[in-house]
Amino acid sequence: MSPYTAVELIRAKRDGKKLDDAAIQWLISAYTHQEIADEQMAAMAMAVFFRGLDDRELATWTQAMIASGSRMDFSSLTRPTVDKHSTGGVGDKITLPLAPLLAACGAAVPQLSGRGLGHTGGTLDKLESIPGWRAELSTADLLARLDDVGAVICAAGSGLAPADMRLYALRDVTGTVESIPLIASSIMSKKIAEGADGLVLDVKVGSGAFMKNLADAHTLATRMVALGTAAGVRTVALLTDMNTPLGCTVGNALEVREAVEVLAGGGPRDVVELTVTLANEMASLAGLDVDPAQVLASGQAMDVWRRMIRAQGGDPDAPLPTAQFTEEITAPTSGVVTAMDAMAIGTASWRLGAGRARQNDTVQAAAGIELLARPGERIDAAMPLLRLHTDTPAAFDAARAALHDAITIGEQPPTARPLILDRIE
Ligand code: URA
Repeated sequence: MSPYTAVELIRAKRDGKKLDDAAIQWLISAYTHQEIADEQMAAMAMAVFFRGLDDRELATWTQAMIASGSRMDFSSLTRPTVDKHSTGGVGDKITLPLAPLLAACGAAVPQLSGRGLGHTGGTLDKLESIPGWRAELSTADLLARLDDVGAVICAAGSGLAPADMRLYALRDVTGTVESIPLIASSIMSKKIAEGADGLVLDVKVGSGAFMKNLADAHTLATRMVALGTAAGVRTVALLTDMNTPLGCTVGNALEVREAVEVLAGGGPRDVVELTVTLANEMASLAGLDVDPAQVLASGQAMDVWRRMIRAQGGDPDAPLPTAQFTEEITAPTSGVVTAMDAMAIGTASWRLGAGRARQNDTVQAAAGIELLARPGERIDAAMPLLRLHTDTPAAFDAARAALHDAITIGEQPPTARPLILDRIE
């Protein structure tokens, strides 16, 4: 017979009390085993949203989520393992060039990824636009691919932090996603259970991110780095701008196309800058004495990409799907583009069919948005600024509505914002 009841713990957290370690362990375990109802855990999540968790509570909460499932073991690999996690943004295709780049540098990169929900895209959805590519891999295949190819991007199995799988789905429908301790424990329980030696966190800040301001992003990053370090994972976080989408494409196949451009030595400047900056951090955590920029320029990362895609059934030479319908949004006046709002563009792309509203929705591989101009560019009236892609033309109206205030045109160029805002270790 447990000494705890869910309702007592909910009341305690609601009233601002600390939960002791045994209570937290019981709560997470009981929720995982469906001994606590969803409505009780939803109330607890809301209490945590308002009252927070202190460092001890957060560490115990995270450890309990890890203990709800199994842990990966990469000790048989000869390469150092290093991983990257982004808190989620619009046009964030960085994992696609980054994983093969690090593998080409000599690391093993196990990117156990998820599908997108809401306005942020999921890495697996992007890769699934490549004909033949499949996300599911057995653990034995994952280890074999890490040993020979060096990089694997695949679906996280249900064995890693299953408590988070249930809790995240619940938070998603109860307005409790944007809680710093709940985000920190959700991400870090999965990453620590994944078991790489090193971890670089890309904490997004801005309109298209969970963290809208630098102070909150700093707190989230600091708490995640502390959790990783305490668990023996060398962890570094970068805070990066997410007011404008990354690169010039948002949407699954469109983003794959841009990632391949980066691997081929081209691609938008911001995507290349973030890929190389994260790669430097990861190489350093892995103890590799290489220059990722040179490795990227040499074409070796592209070779790994092709092997990585083939190893999961994909054809890297097959044409990517294209949308049946496109429409352009044009500039209402001449001037300088001063802002292109990541949230609005992410939402519009989602409405065009690139994202899902519910977990089991299907996504359109070809839907999305191309940015034909970037902040700082001078434009003339009637010039195209965005190209919308979809297979369902009825979606154009909703996308246009989402884009109503997305682009600001002014007289003066905006002050340049750095892409990398801070670094925490
Ligand atoms: N990503 C996660 O995995 N969990 C969160 O809570 C937020 C983003």
